[in-house]
Amino acid sequence: MNKPLDSSLSSVFDVHVHPIRSVISAKSLIDEMDRSGVSKAVILALDLEPNILTTDLKLREEIIDDLWAYSYFINPEQLLDSMTRILQTGVTSNDQVAEMRNSYPDRFIGFGSVNPSKSKSYVSSILDEILLLGLHGIKLIPTLQFFHPQKNKNVKRIFKFAAKQNWPILIHTGKDPGPFEIPTLRYVQYSHPRFWEKLVKKTTVKVIFAHLGGFGATDDESWINSALDIARNNSNIFLDTSAVTYALEDPNTVAKLRDIGFDHVLFGSDHPVVHGTSIEHSKNIILKSPILTEEEKRMILFENAQKLFSS
Ligand SMILES: [Zn+2]
Repeated sequence: MNKPLDSSLSSVFDVHVHPIRSVISAKSLIDEMDRSGVSKAVILALDLEPNILTTDLKLREEIIDDLWAYSYFINPEQLLDSMTRILQTGVTSNDQVAEMRNSYPDRFIGFGSVNPSKSKSYVSSILDEILLLGLHGIKLIPTLQFFHPQKNKNVKRIFKFAAKQNWPILIHTGKDPGPFEIPTLRYVQYSHPRFWEKLVKKTTVKVIFAHLGGFGATDDESWINSALDIARNNSNIFLDTSAVTYALEDPNTVAKLRDIGFDHVLFGSDHPVVHGTSIEHSKNIILKSPILTEEEKRMILFENAQKLFSS
């Protein structure tokens, strides 16, 4: 029997929130969730190395090479500086996420993060740390952690560990804001969902592709289509709506998602990193959509995440 839609208003589950220390505190996030009717949120750590673009000269050279086509009108040094500022703002430790989760254990689920670009011993010590802190999943982000999903050996280790712990892995797919939207950057291209296809076929790990596979200003449709194709063929794949909720206003995308099954779609807000939006704004796009059924809205906004995190 269908529950009235009002029940979802008081029980939204947001699977994609960044507890960035310089922008939000645990209390201000809880206030924002209360305002938006969000009862639970997944808060994500981001294991980034803020000074990597000055200390790793090989990486720096790769990025300057990738920017060559733009070097007549953009100074690569300035872009590297702006990338560094993004890394400095975004870095969010596992400790920080655990501390926040501990202050509101009924409202937050904490995901740890580990940077696959680091050494094998670093990766195993961080995985142990995530386990000890009692976090419940892992966030990976090729754009800001600078790795290739298929060429990086630590990625398989991380998946093996996650499978053993029954942790979901949330993967940033799609581009990132600002300089990380420049399509000639190899680490932007490595965030294409297709690079995960082989691995997700072989694993039991539940994988969430963030941003429906395709956040970005240009050609995001082909990225989203690739993520949808992978989800269609692999029942362990989920897609979150963060930063691309507007895609659910497009009848074509909705028809494709319906074909895969809306049980694979999770509400995410990406709060507070998407300028000019709020959790409530993103929620209302789904809630007020004339092309989604009431049942689909409830599944996206709450039920699918509830099932995923109680299994
Ligand atoms: Zn995000």
